[in-house]
Amino acid sequence: MVTLTEKPKRLVLLGSTGSIGRQTLEIVRAHPDAVKVIALAAFSNLELLFAQAREFDVKTLVLADERLRNSSKLSLHLSQLPSGTQIRFGPSALESLVALDEADIVLNALVGAAGLRASYYTLLNNKRLALANKESLVVGGDLIMPLSTPSTLLPVDSEHSAIYQCLVGEDISEVSRIWLTASGGPFRGMNREQLAQVTVEQALAHPRWTMGKKITIDSSTLMNKGLEAIELHHLFSTDYDNIRIVVHPQSCIHSMVEFRDGSVKAHLGATDMRVPIQYALSYPHRWSAPLDPVDFISIASLTFEEPDMVSFGLLPLALQAGRVGGTYPAVLNAANEVAVSAFLTKACSFLDIERIVSSVLEQHSNEPVESCEQLEEVDSWARAQAKSLVSLA
Ligand code: NAD
Ligand code: MG
Repeated sequence: MVTLTEKPKRLVLLGSTGSIGRQTLEIVRAHPDAVKVIALAAFSNLELLFAQAREFDVKTLVLADERLRNSSKLSLHLSQLPSGTQIRFGPSALESLVALDEADIVLNALVGAAGLRASYYTLLNNKRLALANKESLVVGGDLIMPLSTPSTLLPVDSEHSAIYQCLVGEDISEVSRIWLTASGGPFRGMNREQLAQVTVEQALAHPRWTMGKKITIDSSTLMNKGLEAIELHHLFSTDYDNIRIVVHPQSCIHSMVEFRDGSVKAHLGATDMRVPIQYALSYPHRWSAPLDPVDFISIASLTFEEPDMVSFGLLPLALQAGRVGGTYPAVLNAANEVAVSAFLTKACSFLDIERIVSSVLEQHSNEPVESCEQLEEVDSWARAQAKSLVSLA
């Protein structure tokens, strides 16, 4: 419930045409008095972006794909926008959106390291950051975290939102361990011979969540859990020794926080990203949601098992890169982005993703993180290395 004295929060939504972006707009649709979208950004899907702009009456838009600026496709669709609409192009236009004076919150639902600068400049401009784009913390956590406080950086990733909610009212220094839950993905229980044969179509069929393609493949390799451990480490200043990954196939518990007195708090709920998205927007309040309540009787049992670090080698690789720190996680992430898109176009096999990431990491000489420019250089280097390995795969 929003009190009448509260003004709607003014939201900049980056990645509005994607899975998280579209679900964010469902929340806005349900709570028009509480949130007002003031700017939208997407990469190239201008048909959907323009339809969203019309529905939510948004007059500031970004298309990050520079090539669209002079395209015939653009001129064909421009007439659909009301007069006074401003469209900016290219990646640097994202930075101008997060600096808009009238913005209160930026929800970063871009995919990949392309989201780094948006996260960084949101906080630098003293806006609240609702963060779905985990890669920006994986790559640039050392730059982003010093700019944030718990009330300016709200995680959208379901596990991290769960942990955040378990920590409300708690003293973080009294936490002994964090249990990061994982569904196990579509290939849980398979050995490496079986994984060598899996197809893109099988990898895209996630048992619990419907998401964008990149995170769906990351979930099937368990790289997603590795990226999430690095994200967790940064968000909650948690030592890697105190992060315990547990496979929980029902995905009912979204993560757990264990305290030094032995108490454990868990966050449970529907397997629906609209819950953590809405919490990041409604914080410190809770709004109603059109979800069926969890029925524990029908769930009947919750099970837990160790993750398989032998079959799914990207998970230990990610944890190792996180422990080493510096620019290693940026290299891990960039090589993974290239290998995942190669797998999606059938240019390499499922297990090649791990081989490519591992071999690019081996070639890297680590540096302490200093700036976005440095991270982007490291990212470009890692992408070039990974691409040359894809061509050999
Ligand atoms: P998606 O692929 O469905 O959407 C990505 C969005 O970003 C699209 O709007 C696309 O146009 C835009 N985009 C892509 N590349 C871009 C670029 N270079 N510059 C500017 N815009 C670009 O992805 P998604 O599943 O919505 O995931 C978004 C982020 O949220 C990812 O970091 C993912 O890890 C995280 N996340 C997603 C889910 C989920 O359920 N989908 C859950 C947890 C975390
Ligand atoms: Mg998650």
